[in-house]
Amino acid sequence: SPFAYAPAPESRSVVDIAPSYGLFVDGEFTEAAGGKVFKTVAPATEEVLSEVAQAGEEDVDRAVRAARKAFEKWSALPGSARAKYLFRIARIIQERSRELAVLETLDNGKPIKETRDFDVPQAAAHFFYHAGWADKLAHAGLGPDPRPLGVAAQVIPWNFPLLMLAWKIAPALATGNTVVLKPAETTPLSALFFADVCRQAGLPKGVVNILTGDGSTGAALVSHPDVDKVAFTGSTEVGKAIARQVAGTRKKVTLELGGKGANIVFDDAPIDQAVEGIVTGIFFNQGQVCCAGSRLLVQESVADELIDALKRRLTTLRLGDPLDKNTDIGAINSAQQLAKIRELTGIGEAEGAERWSPECELPSSGYWFAPTLFTGVAQAHTVAQEEIFGPVLSVLTFRTPDEAVAKANNTPYGLSAGVWTEKGSRILAVADRLRAGVVWANTFNKFDPTSPFGGYKESGYGREGGRHGLEAYLDV
Ligand code: NAD
Repeated sequence: SPFAYAPAPESRSVVDIAPSYGLFVDGEFTEAAGGKVFKTVAPATEEVLSEVAQAGEEDVDRAVRAARKAFEKWSALPGSARAKYLFRIARIIQERSRELAVLETLDNGKPIKETRDFDVPQAAAHFFYHAGWADKLAHAGLGPDPRPLGVAAQVIPWNFPLLMLAWKIAPALATGNTVVLKPAETTPLSALFFADVCRQAGLPKGVVNILTGDGSTGAALVSHPDVDKVAFTGSTEVGKAIARQVAGTRKKVTLELGGKGANIVFDDAPIDQAVEGIVTGIFFNQGQVCCAGSRLLVQESVADELIDALKRRLTTLRLGDPLDKNTDIGAINSAQQLAKIRELTGIGEAEGAERWSPECELPSSGYWFAPTLFTGVAQAHTVAQEEIFGPVLSVLTFRTPDEAVAKANNTPYGLSAGVWTEKGSRILAVADRLRAGVVWANTFNKFDPTSPFGGYKESGYGREGGRHGLEAYLDV
């Protein structure tokens, strides 16, 4: 049963959540000029967590001006001085990791074991890694004297609120840029917590500004004339709108967009290990992961065996209170996202794919969706083409490596893929032909700040992480 375990959940009293929060501009929390606010809700219970300021054009202008002013001094600091701030921020994230994990789990709905073991430590790792670069930019192979671009406008989604913030802010600061960041409207709290981390680290005023708000705030931010760089992570649709909006301006843009990743399992793959990788690939963060392995391509001769083993494994997943340390599957982030998952899975059934979920009682309040498999999926089916961004796996079969590659590449996206086989030569041969920014071999969803991440095709352009990630923030 998904509710077989009931140990004491991680207490929400670990973190103080204020009844209301302002914007973080020029080192101070302030109200929005227009006085507007919005509520942020815990997706697992629908409880209102806090009321947050909604930034408008006037606030965007104030934040960009603060970042511009701070840029002069920040970019003139020796890299070693910037490194000290980044190291300090990384250490404070570690020291306050328990608060951050609980806060992120409450605001996002994802299991505490993920925020505790992945989101928060990875966020700290990004600041440590980029702190190391801050005084070594001349040795990054980008030319002897790379220069920061100026003010970076950064817009992020709700699936990894703190970690996406770290992916954006750490390289920007290490390279001497200043930042105005807008978190997603359903998950503003960890970014506001991070503003407090910046104050604690003594970061000079205006170097990091946080504007909470919705798509209109994001649009105002990326179109502000005094922004030099736009970094966006989110849907392909909004990414394209942003690319159109900044076309004809001086702004440099990187886009990290959607995906429809394929996990390719050959007949010689160790089945148990592959099952674990497939489960991680699509049920980690309830499948709300841009690089999720949302399609399983399995070689025909082992398809039945693999699907049976997968179904058995899915019946052991524990769905429920995200603050419970044993929970595997938490809540969907919002009512809107839940509606999208329901709509697309409904289309999957209507188009004739076979739907299966383990027996699973869903909590009566909050936004929940049971782990779901679609078998008998054809390439043209909507569930094989469109990003669902939920705990839904579409299973297709193949006979030859050529067919596997062709099917894996047959979507508009190109972000991630996985290859499962005992043959090293086959891994290399297949990986070479996959149009995906990351290919994992006999594993899935492994991340490291040293490794550049980003997409091909409609998954966007530019890389984050590694040496390549620095290029997005430098003029050479
Ligand atoms: P979204 O595009 O709706 O929103 C992302 C952010 O953009 C939010 O902060 C939102 O307020 C803002 N926004 C919305 N309209 C805007 C506009 N016109 N101008 C500027 N900003 C605007 O996406 P989402 O629903 O928050 O996130 C889910 C999507 O993000 C999925 O498609 C997923 O694949 C993608 N994603 C990609 C990556 C990656 O690295 N490639 C990582 C995480 C998520």
